Amino acid sequence: MKLPSASKLDLASHCVWPYWAHETKSVYETSPASEVGKIVHAYAAEHARIPAQRRTIAQLVDAMRTDAIKRNTTPLELSDTTVSTATELCHAWDAHAAPSLAGKLWQPESLMAYDPVTDSAEAFPGVDPQDGYKVCPTGAFRGTADVLYASHDTVTVVDWKCGRPENVAPIASHKQMRFLGLAAARAWGLPNARIILAYVGLDGITAEQHTLGTDDLHDVRNELLELQARIDRREAPTIGDHCRWCHVRASCPTTRSALQTMSAATSQFAVVADARQITGPDHATWLLNTLKRVRLAAVDVESALKAWSDEHDGIPISDGVWGRKEVAIEHVRLTPDGLTLLEARLPASITTTVTKSSLEQALRADGRLPTVEMPHLMAQLRDTGSVMASVQVRYERR
Ligand code: SF4
Repeated sequence: MKLPSASKLDLASHCVWPYWAHETKSVYETSPASEVGKIVHAYAAEHARIPAQRRTIAQLVDAMRTDAIKRNTTPLELSDTTVSTATELCHAWDAHAAPSLAGKLWQPESLMAYDPVTDSAEAFPGVDPQDGYKVCPTGAFRGTADVLYASHDTVTVVDWKCGRPENVAPIASHKQMRFLGLAAARAWGLPNARIILAYVGLDGITAEQHTLGTDDLHDVRNELLELQARIDRREAPTIGDHCRWCHVRASCPTTRSALQTMSAATSQFAVVADARQITGPDHATWLLNTLKRVRLAAVDVESALKAWSDEHDGIPISDGVWGRKEVAIEHVRLTPDGLTLLEARLPASITTTVTKSSLEQALRADGRLPTVEMPHLMAQLRDTGSVMASVQVRYERR
């Protein structure tokens, strides 16, 4: 039986179709935010090595690129902006998270497999988590703990998160963490598991923690058994906002049916420009659900087009070629000299970091014309070293 990995347990609790259907086709999705997360995780894992053997961020990024090519997966989209954001978070991790691990005998990126039928788990130290599907036994759920250590009767599992998505479950009911706690407790033969979600931000770490005791671990096991039973029962796909995170949505029958419904019912969609023609809550719900699925299908098609255009040097369109474009952008990061400059010129706009649009707003509020003043102000900020340049990848006409 195909089973969800720990990070997919929340999604699987909403819909189990991807785990029993044969016609699934996965879409590989990446984003700057997920690439930042991968770099920070790799950097944190390096700290389990002795200092002389730790790789630098640049070396890690190179290794990740090489590995992606070797595995024949989509190479990482590592723009300058992504790497510079990740670098800042790595430095924040050094300052705020590393001290809490000092002196502990901790394992990084620990792959574990747990079988709820036998209530037993196995750990695979040193195995690359990406190879988990090769080593974990059939019938076992698998997951990777970013940090694992034990003391007395408790095993501790930490997961680093870069950025906090909206509506994330509280730690006590966080499915990925509850699973990792159970797998670690069984693998280490300890009765309790402390689970910690540690959000890494530029200002420090915000952590949430909870301890799972014997009864809690028993409940987690039952939840996994119930999930297995739902997969066995071959429950129909269940649509909802969770579809946004589903890696097989392009092949899901609900996507096909939403597209068919939309094309068969164009007269009903004609009302979207005129709210008075929406006949009631049921009609509004139907429109919204169908529209969301069609929008997601469009996102998938766009991802495929970007990949195709990269391989074929763009896609011809009536007024040129659509494809990858690298655009130079600048961020304002105030140095002390930059701060002095802004205090003199725009005291109302002072914060430790500012955006170009906030500077434009401040100029307007000060009765000055941004189109005239901004180029000069930016030139002065550049002279003070308060501007970081980077390259952003976009897909558009070129
Ligand atoms: S797209 Fe939604 S309904 Fe379809 S398989 Fe994924 S989660 Fe289930």
